[in-house]
Amino acid sequence: MKPEEVVALVKEKGIQFIDMKFNDLPGLWQHFTIPAGELTDEVFREGLGFDGSSIRGFQEIQESDMILIPDPDTAIVDPICSVPTLSLICDIYDPITKEPYTRDPRFVAKKAESYLKESGIADTSYWGPEMEFFIFDDVRFDQTVHCGYYFVDSIEGEWNTGREEKPNLGYKPRYKEGYFPVPPHDSLHDLRSEIVLAMLEIGNGIEVHHHEVASGGQGEIDMKFDTLTKMADKCMKYKYIVKNIARRHNKVATFMPKPLFQDNGSGMHTHQSLWKDGTNLFFDPDGYAQISQTAKYYIGGLLEHAPALMAFCAPTTNSYKRLVPGFEAPVNLTYSSRNRSAAIRIPMYSNNPKSKRIEFRPPDCTCNPYLAFAAMLMAGLDGIEREIDPGEPIEKNIYKLEGPEAHKVKTVPGSLEEALIALEQDHDFLLKGNVFTADLLDVWIRYKREREIDAIKLRPHPYEFHLYFDL
Ligand code: GLN
Ligand code: MG
Ligand code: MG
Ligand code: MG
Repeated sequence: MKPEEVVALVKEKGIQFIDMKFNDLPGLWQHFTIPAGELTDEVFREGLGFDGSSIRGFQEIQESDMILIPDPDTAIVDPICSVPTLSLICDIYDPITKEPYTRDPRFVAKKAESYLKESGIADTSYWGPEMEFFIFDDVRFDQTVHCGYYFVDSIEGEWNTGREEKPNLGYKPRYKEGYFPVPPHDSLHDLRSEIVLAMLEIGNGIEVHHHEVASGGQGEIDMKFDTLTKMADKCMKYKYIVKNIARRHNKVATFMPKPLFQDNGSGMHTHQSLWKDGTNLFFDPDGYAQISQTAKYYIGGLLEHAPALMAFCAPTTNSYKRLVPGFEAPVNLTYSSRNRSAAIRIPMYSNNPKSKRIEFRPPDCTCNPYLAFAAMLMAGLDGIEREIDPGEPIEKNIYKLEGPEAHKVKTVPGSLEEALIALEQDHDFLLKGNVFTADLLDVWIRYKREREIDAIKLRPHPYEFHLYFDL
């Protein structure tokens, strides 16, 4: 869409407000809103100002003025606002130099796409994240978060009644049986359908929605694949719609990877493939699981850099409570066809060359999708450029491997701290083509250490009361 077309759309649809949206560094959408009459062609050229020092991970106070330039291609009628509002995703610029802002996650995603083209390896990458989430009853979840004792009680008692074999008179799915009985067990079916309608309305193509494995309130809605920056934009819209429609029903949605002790967590398995001149470079009818040598090198890159990648793909302390054996979340850095205990699965549902792709399973939805997709692409490309051999696939259930066989398989980092250390030691693949800058890596690591890891270390954990209060 051209700027004049957006301005025309505003008139045609009776739009009253324009909502300018952009990402902060950890990956939460931020916005401000202008009356529709304020949107002119000039806004698309000159941008509108905001205070960059009040946004997480951005500028220092002495350099706080920044501008937003909306991307006209992202114009949608906002499905959440009751007053007719046009939503625009914006790119961030420095008002003095007029250069794109190197800490703008969307800029990193765009640079990764340019780097791919310039490499000559491929011209397009396709992305298909499977975003999972929980929808909880509002009141109960607030209590859980705010009260340590209630938390310990509820996770060991009420929420996992299926596991404890107490009577279940409410059609609650039994432990690990959420995937996927019909209603009334699937009590969120209509809510998910409503969410999907809102997504379709704004052009987030959807393939399927369903309840997930966890016994209470876990859902998944799968989008049709798209190119890197566009898919990251769609992930932001996805979370916005899920959270807001849940809120409309007095419920609360969370993308936290592991909100419930001893039940499945929520992941963001990411399907990916590289294409050149309309051909899928990952397909080879004669290869293992019908993947090409290029795909194998790409896998080699993902596996070699996986510990560092986790700093962007599983970037919260809670991420590592999901990445444990036994809950379909990957721990083992290996690949396999169909095997859900490996970090990389090669889906075997179809023989169609177009659908051949690899599924990287460690990411979760607390990632900033622009940075996570860009980092994965750079790791895979490094694998292709350096011809990194991913070794032999493992077909067995790796969770159950024992002895020397088990020791041979490398695993994902056990904590965010380990992932950040891995990133400190291994990041040259990200700096290629200036896709990630040293400044961005530095601020990311510092932000995660100070604001998250250290902040959590300082606070007594609810379970410490269970273990130590009576000692
Ligand atoms: N919830 C699982 C995870 O954390 C995935 C379950 C599935 O989609 N098979 O990755
Ligand atoms: Mg799925
Ligand atoms: Mg799933
Ligand atoms: Mg999957």
